[in-house]
Amino acid sequence: MGLNCALDGPSGAGKSTIAKGLAKRLGFVYVDTGALYRSIGLYVLSKGADTTSADEVVPLLSDINVELKYIDGAQRVFLNGEDVSEKIRTHEISMAASNVSAIPAVREFLLDLQREIAGKNDIIMDGRDIGTVILPSAEVKVFMTASAEERARRRYNELTEKGQSVVYEEILKDINQRDYNDTHREISPLKKADDAIELDTTSMSIEEVVDCIEKLIRKEIKTENEGFRKIPFFRVWFYALIRLIASIPFRIAFNLKYEGLENLPKSGSVILAGNHRTWFDPILIAIKVKYISAYMAKAELFKYFPLNAVIRLVHGFPTRRNSGDVSALSNAEKYIRRGYNLTMFPEGTRSRNGKIGRAKSGVAFIASKCGVPVYPVGISFTGKLHFRSKITVRFGEPISPDDLMIKSMAKSDLRAAGERIMNTIAELVDPYE
Ligand code: C5P
Repeated sequence: MGLNCALDGPSGAGKSTIAKGLAKRLGFVYVDTGALYRSIGLYVLSKGADTTSADEVVPLLSDINVELKYIDGAQRVFLNGEDVSEKIRTHEISMAASNVSAIPAVREFLLDLQREIAGKNDIIMDGRDIGTVILPSAEVKVFMTASAEERARRRYNELTEKGQSVVYEEILKDINQRDYNDTHREISPLKKADDAIELDTTSMSIEEVVDCIEKLIRKEIKTENEGFRKIPFFRVWFYALIRLIASIPFRIAFNLKYEGLENLPKSGSVILAGNHRTWFDPILIAIKVKYISAYMAKAELFKYFPLNAVIRLVHGFPTRRNSGDVSALSNAEKYIRRGYNLTMFPEGTRSRNGKIGRAKSGVAFIASKCGVPVYPVGISFTGKLHFRSKITVRFGEPISPDDLMIKSMAKSDLRAAGERIMNTIAELVDPYE
């Protein structure tokens, strides 16, 4: 997988000029996602449909095939086989793109395509929701802004240089309207990702902006080359102490049986993925895995003090289930890159009867993005737990990122890989234990 740089911001902030400059300097592929929305806008207009009406737009999506191709290093966009790269650069299409982009089905339609492109290359992708939705764990995230007047002035100059006759006031009105649409739409509104760097370019030259982002990317390339970082000594010891203390009541209360200890991870930066039976599953796993781990835990647990404080102390971080929680994925990646293991339960919820559920796509996403193996863990017991119940915890052979066979970050690929992980976990669970 390549290095991803997400460049988000409002219309006319200069993202495409900057992204092109960066791509050239760094040898990255530049992906202009606005062109995808523009192509859909163009198609809808060509059919005489209303670009603001989901009822009229959605049925047309099945007739649309948008492709990005790179010819002589430049991105060209093809709509049903026709190169529309120039046609989509008009005022009318800008508004149409902004309208169709607020329709959830349109965003869903373009999601996989964008992730697929990103999965294969070192890329700079510009758009509105790249850092928040499309590539939540992009290594570099920049949110570029500039005042509306400055953005209108830049666009005015760009279009007049191309020989188009345009009125500054109209462009400004257009930019304000698109800002409003982009920030107020319900789905994937334009907003800065929590971990993005904000860059106000109002009084910066193109050169200065490119220099600044290039530095960020080069720093990231250097970090990646250095490999995963080492964790401070005191954290490792503190974790070991907590692990020891927390394990005592469970060792006393239950008859714990461990198998497959030869498969325990021999280093940090791996994912431990188990089936989820009890609230203390993380402790059952931690008893044998000595490497420091972070824990993905359901957001509800973080509502109450002192529970939230305790979970955070052992590097627990929240995930909102059923919502493709972007900040959880990005936290997971950060911990792994710092050398922590990640303990998680891919089903996202506890199974009361021991049946193995389906995996959410998060586990495969993180494994693939970080290029780390998944260590499957099966937790088994029968009936209701009581004092000295037998609980078996079985560690399986690690699944390498290659074995997960994730070709792209498309949802279908991630789900299939999640399924492979859950099947391996299921083999470690004995329903009669
Ligand atoms: O960036 P550009 O101006 O070409 O984008 C056209 C329109 O497409 C924007 O006004 C925005 O509403 C929409 N868009 C989006 N998400 C993206 C890229 C563009 O909603 N990732």
